[in-house]
Amino acid sequence: MTSAAARAALDITADLPVSALEDFYRDLHRHPELAFQEHRTAAALTERLTQAGFETAEGIGGTGVAGVLRNGEGPTVLLRADMDALPVTEETGLAYASQTPGVMHACGHDMHVTWLAGAAAALAAGRDAWSGTLLVVGQPAEESGKGAAAMLADGLYDRFPRPDVLLGQHVTPGPAGLYAHVPGLIMSATTDVDIVVHGRGGHGSRPETTVDPVVTAAYIVTRLQTVVSREIAPRESAVLTVGRIEAGTASNIIPATARISLNLRTQSEAVRDRMLAAIRRIAEGECLAAGCPRGPEVTLGNGFPATVNDADTDHRVAGVHREVFGEATVFDPGPAMGSEDFSQLADGKLPYAYWFVTSTPAAVWDEAPGEDLMERFDAVPSNHSPLFAPDLSVVAPGVRTLVSGALAYLAPAD
Ligand code: ZN
Ligand code: ZN
Repeated sequence: MTSAAARAALDITADLPVSALEDFYRDLHRHPELAFQEHRTAAALTERLTQAGFETAEGIGGTGVAGVLRNGEGPTVLLRADMDALPVTEETGLAYASQTPGVMHACGHDMHVTWLAGAAAALAAGRDAWSGTLLVVGQPAEESGKGAAAMLADGLYDRFPRPDVLLGQHVTPGPAGLYAHVPGLIMSATTDVDIVVHGRGGHGSRPETTVDPVVTAAYIVTRLQTVVSREIAPRESAVLTVGRIEAGTASNIIPATARISLNLRTQSEAVRDRMLAAIRRIAEGECLAAGCPRGPEVTLGNGFPATVNDADTDHRVAGVHREVFGEATVFDPGPAMGSEDFSQLADGKLPYAYWFVTSTPAAVWDEAPGEDLMERFDAVPSNHSPLFAPDLSVVAPGVRTLVSGALAYLAPAD
């Protein structure tokens, strides 16, 4: 016995205009736009929402789009797609490969926009089957971690109804046709940190007149390796990577400053706080030990919070996905070390569910080396790869995931 939500979802999406949606996807894929430059993409999404009967607005938080469909009493459900592409040169060789040099939809956000447009149209056409308010959001600049926050800062929830629940989804490697749900932490937090070490420059032959920031930076980089290994409990997951170190201009000049850039991945606020405190302490301690004329500057750069699904929300959405697609298609992969800014749309407290749709073409998956799912997962092109190419077979299922997820809240109770 299936739920009313699942029955309505299957009914509403029975005749999806799949080839038109595929054309829409191919057009978006040919014309990728970087973060906060998604003008063409935003206009294309807005046009589709307007045609479907949504009241729309563009330019929210830069290039963001929102559309609302008020359809009687009931909760407000937000469906979100991110819209930005990446500075990657496409190497897929597809007939619909990027026509913009050096820019590619290598994270599949073009698929997300296609799903959102398809779901919005299907739910609008099938509005007799549900009641409530549907809020759809085309979010800019997910890759820089700034788009969701920019839309909120620009009054998204003053201009449009504040949602009761938020739903979002992302393509991921894996044999096309599976749905990865985690009823809790699904994506890690990321934090960039910059450290500037202030020494005293001078001639390479007279180190006694200087404080060498290169040596101090080297000690800092080395000691930072102990943060995860010696200060964080083994049961926690965390990464600290120094990705950039920069100092000096010539071999016989001791420079005045050195710069270190590092990135953290964490899965709890407490671990992140502890790592940041350790980084500050180590930087200050090494500068003190070296006799630096002043302390280091430690600044936080770009960051994404952790994505933590509300367990009840995720169970409800995963439940309807099991009904629509079959019990065996929904699995729990556990938390990933990747990051997302979707949770910022939740404004700190609104419940949300965020899930993955596997999208590797069957032929690519079947030829991938490896015995089990995880070995193949690591072998096929991943998000951000110049070879990343979601299978078009996921167009219709990704519309159904959004429609059925929304109807889990908007369809009449059984
Ligand atoms: Zn990405
Ligand atoms: Zn992405």
